[in-house]
Amino acid sequence: MPSEFDIIRRYFTRPVKRALLGVGDDCALIAPEPGTVLAVSTDMLVEGRHFLAGSDAAQLGHKALAVNLSDLAAMGAAPRYATLALALPEADETWLAQFTQGFFTLADAFGVELIGGDTTRGPRNLTVTVIGAVPPELALRRDGAKAGDEVWLSGCTGDAALALAHLNARVRLSVAALAHCLARLHTPVPCVALGLALRGLATSAIDVSDGLVADLGHIGERSGVAVELRYTDVPRSRALAACADERLARECLLAGGDDYELAFTASPDSRGRVAAVAAELSLALTRIGTVSAGEPGLVSVYDAAGKIIEIASKGFDHFG
Ligand code: ADP
Ligand code: MG
Repeated sequence: MPSEFDIIRRYFTRPVKRALLGVGDDCALIAPEPGTVLAVSTDMLVEGRHFLAGSDAAQLGHKALAVNLSDLAAMGAAPRYATLALALPEADETWLAQFTQGFFTLADAFGVELIGGDTTRGPRNLTVTVIGAVPPELALRRDGAKAGDEVWLSGCTGDAALALAHLNARVRLSVAALAHCLARLHTPVPCVALGLALRGLATSAIDVSDGLVADLGHIGERSGVAVELRYTDVPRSRALAACADERLARECLLAGGDDYELAFTASPDSRGRVAAVAAELSLALTRIGTVSAGEPGLVSVYDAAGKIIEIASKGFDHFG
């Protein structure tokens, strides 16, 4: 049985690149970059809550980091460092090898260094903290949306929730649709390049983790504005478009969560620049609504006839 220190040495210690000092001392040492501030965020994945016991370890390693990088993306921050606090029921070396493979493959893809953490026995819990860099005046905050701005969404929402609906036997997806949706659920790709491209362009941004309507509500609350969403303009993946259960499709699209797309606002004058970003990054960016001076935080969803659609679920309540 490897000790805590064997595990740290074998699986989590790598030569430092940008950091002055990494794993192995009481603290890591990192140098601030001129003209930037640090963007810091923590997200926790808890077994039984965010993933099932027996989940693929490599996918967990990927997702634990991906959901954190998504927060940096939503802030317009460039990813730099991560720390990893790990509680594990046992020192399973096969699990550790796969977990670190998933984690470091994504970390390397985005130039992120693991500079520290904590390792203990306990109910499985994966807590990652990421540190990024952004010039303070360019950070994409939630509180900058203005009445008259337009609301944009990258990619499509709903696929991760649709995968869960399939796993819970609420729907039966085709083999191809299931493969697509499972990848969206287990190995989301954070929109880091988009976040960087939106610096100085988006007036506010958020990553869609709780559900599209709930997360736009967060922008609305922080910005003191209301959001009007045009339901028929919310894009659907092929998998979601093929879903015959319209009620389920709507719930997935608007309230599914676990999407890790970026929702952002921008002035109507910026339409051309947003389109240029979409072309440059080969991304779908879709205009799905507008910001108004209504009740702060209120998100109204309109159908094609301009009628308000009542939505049952407002997204994922972590204490629900
Ligand atoms: P301390 O007793 O000072 O908290 P630890 O023994 O917990 O130190 O950790 C030793 C070193 O290993 C520290 O540099 C810590 O940041 C690092 N570390 C521990 N667990 C992990 C992990 N899961 N991933 C990365 N670094 C880790
Ligand atoms: Mg410790």
